[in-house]
Amino acid sequence: MTGAAGFIGSHTAVELMAAGHDVVGVDNFANSSPGAVERVHRLADGRFTFVELDLRDRTSLNELLRRRPVDAVVHFAARKAVGESVDIPLDYYDTNVNATLGLVSVMLERGVNRLVFSSSCSIYGEAESMPIREDAPARPTNPYARTKWMCEQILADVCQRHPDWQVTSLRYFNPAGAHPSGLLGEDPRGVPNNVLPYIAQVAVGRRAELSIFGDDYPTPDGTGIRDYIHVVDIAEGHRLALEALGEATGHRVINLGTGHGTSVRELLTAFSAACGRELPSRVVARRPGDVAELVADPSLARELLGWKATRDVADMCRDAWNFQRHNPNGYAETDRGGTEQ
Ligand code: UDP
Repeated sequence: MTGAAGFIGSHTAVELMAAGHDVVGVDNFANSSPGAVERVHRLADGRFTFVELDLRDRTSLNELLRRRPVDAVVHFAARKAVGESVDIPLDYYDTNVNATLGLVSVMLERGVNRLVFSSSCSIYGEAESMPIREDAPARPTNPYARTKWMCEQILADVCQRHPDWQVTSLRYFNPAGAHPSGLLGEDPRGVPNNVLPYIAQVAVGRRAELSIFGDDYPTPDGTGIRDYIHVVDIAEGHRLALEALGEATGHRVINLGTGHGTSVRELLTAFSAACGRELPSRVVARRPGDVAELVADPSLARELLGWKATRDVADMCRDAWNFQRHNPNGYAETDRGGTEQ
């Protein structure tokens, strides 16, 4: 598992080990913390193997897979902030595309042909109709989304050339929430880009108020609508996708979403209910590049993987708040965090 110390990687590692899989995780901690690895060890009773490694270092990756042969790879490692990708596009192409190229070439060398790839709904850009099915046209509108789209195309080409390859790209919508243990959660570096960790930091007193990026969208309350999905549902989706890889060769693309949209105002109300106090907010200008609405049609995941999200926005807010209040500074206080709710 690449990016195993990240938000989705750490939750998926725990989910896979709970289901009996052995996981070898790598991460270079570019946007994650060793504290998350320590928590995964705790939740997995020490069964987790972790190696600090940069995927662009093909020699070390090759050596790792020689020493620790694997059946399949789950590839999360990537940069993921849209705004940042506009500022430093080359870093994004290097980290996201170059690292994927390195990973795939090492997999070819070591004879590993099964992969679950972490893709994104941002590939759809401004979709014409909601909810979005996988056959909607790809219209990425920023460098981040383009790196994900390029990686998918690279994987499709590799599958064409190597007909025994089994690859699933999971395009997920807006991951949110945290592990119910309170041990794992989202711990962004600096000012959070995403709305839910931002709200959580307002709730814990690290930020004064939420800036709502525009309330003049063509939505019922004027604020942007997204399909928020609990990170544990996403982790289960990865496990099912991994276990279903053997059912088909080639490259499959599957959405992970709930099919249910929530506005920024509705999310703020839900989090206020979870933390027991009305959280302050202020409407500011729209954020460049934002779209009014993004909601998944998750029926293909149900059909192909037997997967369906079972947790709602109230669950996401409860679990994110549980993590945030027990870990006000994220993994920085790694020894003190994590208690039952
Ligand atoms: N948003 C907001 N304030 C913030 C961050 C985000 O109002 O501080 C809004 C954003 O305009 C969008 C929604 O929250 O409508 C989700 O944004 P996020 O960055 O979490 O995810 P995205 O869908 O952009 O990947």
